[in-house]
Amino acid sequence: MIKRLAAVAILVSIAGCERHSVTAHSRWPVMGTVAAVSCADPTADMEQLRQTADEIYRDSISRFSAWTDGSELAKINASGTNGVAVSEEMAKLVEISIHYSRTSGGAFSPLVSPLLRLWGFGWKATPPDAPPDDETVRKLAATARWENLSLNRPALTLRLARPDAKLDLGGIAKGYAVDKVWERFRDIGVTNALVDLGGNLRCLGEAAPGRGGWRTAVRDPLSPASGYILGTFLLRPGEAVATSGNYERFVTIAGKRYAHIIDPRTGRPAEGVLSCTVIANTAVAADALSTTLFVLGPNDGNEYLRKHAPDCAALWVTESDEQILSDNFQARNWQPAQVR
Ligand code: AMP
Ligand code: MG
Repeated sequence: MIKRLAAVAILVSIAGCERHSVTAHSRWPVMGTVAAVSCADPTADMEQLRQTADEIYRDSISRFSAWTDGSELAKINASGTNGVAVSEEMAKLVEISIHYSRTSGGAFSPLVSPLLRLWGFGWKATPPDAPPDDETVRKLAATARWENLSLNRPALTLRLARPDAKLDLGGIAKGYAVDKVWERFRDIGVTNALVDLGGNLRCLGEAAPGRGGWRTAVRDPLSPASGYILGTFLLRPGEAVATSGNYERFVTIAGKRYAHIIDPRTGRPAEGVLSCTVIANTAVAADALSTTLFVLGPNDGNEYLRKHAPDCAALWVTESDEQILSDNFQARNWQPAQVR
């Protein structure tokens, strides 16, 4: 059984940083979620940091958003199979996405958009009255294969191999944006800060002198709004963490609830996992891996980590209310919450 702790008083958000030691904190809405910066530097200009981060997030939206008319991604999706010139930033994020898609046997896909829409997710999409039939699901699953993307360097052009293949970078773009903010903060001399974009976190330095990082909470996916947590671990200087959860966005079709993470190999919403938390060296890796390992589940996910990302650690909560920690998560100073 999952242990739950009424930890609301000390740990408020997924960031769960020990707020009594944080000098300054700023939160604001962006990308349909909440962005936050916490800073342990007494001299930090929080307004300037918020503006710096917000500018980067807005640039990210203009490139990668599937929810914005005129974004670079929208233009690619409108280009059919003609191919289109893309920015270096887009090329980089597509390359990283292809890496996770290829290594995971298609559990992660940057071309998941048609499947998302089929199940009622995405901009202006509405859930169908009944689950889609097997034939339609199979047809659209074929559009999600990463081989349908061809990126040409150094020409910097991107071509969709079939007219019904469409990009969606929602499983990775937030982490990429957090890395950009983290790099900018580092470059302007910020030493102790935590960057959070909707549960994608990366830290600089530590929350207080001698702490060794930022103690971070993992939210209980069975009561995401309550503030209950499963436990805490120490996010070391420079590290990132992300959580993918089935509670974040879902639709109800014929009385059954379906979550927004799709298994592109079957074309159906992934089942069996409630949430997956991944610690990695960059926010883009944590974001991509939390989505990938959510789909793969703990068995195949552990194997993936051993083979492709041995430095990363993962924690799954399954639909049968079990917590499964990857080999090296325990070693991350994991402190389970006390039973209420
Ligand atoms: P995250 O919360 O990072 O796991 O991202 C979830 C979002 O990623 C969804 O809302 C979709 O936009 C997109 N997505 C869903 N399934 C996949 C998948 N299998 N691979 C890549 N992106 C996905
Ligand atoms: Mg993700």
